[in-house]
Amino acid sequence: MPEGRDAERHTPVVLSVVIPMFNEEDVLPALVTRLRPVLTELGVPHEVVAVDDGSGDRTAELLDAFRLGWPELRVVALRRNSGHQAALTAGLDRARGAYVVSLDADLQDPPEKIPDMLALARAEGLDIVYGVRADRSSDSGFKRWSAGVYYRLMRRLAGPSVPAQAGDFRLLSRAAVEALKALPDQQRVYRLLVPWLGFPSGQVTYERAPRTAGRTKYPLGRMIRLAVDSVTGFSAAPLRIATWLGAGAFVVCLGLLVYTLTAFALGRTVPGWTSLFTGIVFIGAVQLVCVGLLGEYVGRIYTAVQNRPTYFVRHDTAATAPDPASDPAPADADDDAPSVPLPRA
Ligand code: UDP
Ligand code: MG
Repeated sequence: MPEGRDAERHTPVVLSVVIPMFNEEDVLPALVTRLRPVLTELGVPHEVVAVDDGSGDRTAELLDAFRLGWPELRVVALRRNSGHQAALTAGLDRARGAYVVSLDADLQDPPEKIPDMLALARAEGLDIVYGVRADRSSDSGFKRWSAGVYYRLMRRLAGPSVPAQAGDFRLLSRAAVEALKALPDQQRVYRLLVPWLGFPSGQVTYERAPRTAGRTKYPLGRMIRLAVDSVTGFSAAPLRIATWLGAGAFVVCLGLLVYTLTAFALGRTVPGWTSLFTGIVFIGAVQLVCVGLLGEYVGRIYTAVQNRPTYFVRHDTAATAPDPASDPAPADADDDAPSVPLPRA
């Protein structure tokens, strides 16, 4: 039984490291070699949540083998390949730590930065610490260009709080994790949802290393999927395109109407041309406007269905017992901290 050992259940876990992995057999040994000493040296009760995202290679087998000699390693196996963000969701949902760090399996995010993230979060009482890529020179030119376009677009859509060049290497406090878990969003894009929370945050910069082994699991198709999910998850703007097209077409239609009528008055037309032409342009414009109107309403339904909470309670003096889901200040999760939430300085 992977999750059932009593000792594991009763020591409060301070740090969970969530690692989604899909066909990462080539990189796993290197990952363990680098991650384990960092966590051991950190000296806090921890767990490593390896989310096996339906790998078809020997990833599951290797994880089982590593687990024999590494009690802190926990494996959450998904039944099928569900994608990076979904695997991350599975890991965040199950992580037990007071702080949760998410990490790519391919060592592009250096595990050595985890202690810095934890120290920063604890020292400043932060809920989020972003790992920000200081150097992307190891990525291909196309990847850097597409990432640049992506982050510019995302800042426009989700607001300026989206840190540029922050991927999925970050630390979250229990409060932030619970807030994310409470979101009803299905197709989650954490690099936008986390900044959207707007919780107190800090940054740790790191050099983006090349993939240690294996091949990228983000081919072009998946990058496009991520971009589409990002846009549709944060904006109904594409639905309005029809409205603007319709409005534009309407203006053009008026101009053409003047033109056809003049041509008609001057007798420079074939019989039937004026009515036919006017009809086509007019109907086209009307249809686009109607589609646009539908879009506006669908947009509203979409926002209503998303039903995201508009606030998160940090503290309520009327509450008798602190609600662990709504608000432990990060420091409270420490063993030595008082158990009553204190207002943040
Ligand atoms: N990943 C996953 N499921 C997928 C695709 C990717 O769990 O369907 C994991 C992958 O194993 C890695 C992380 O997501 O740990 C990031 O993927 P990758 O390094 O291939 O992306 P890139 O760095 O090339 O953007
Ligand atoms: Mg990678």
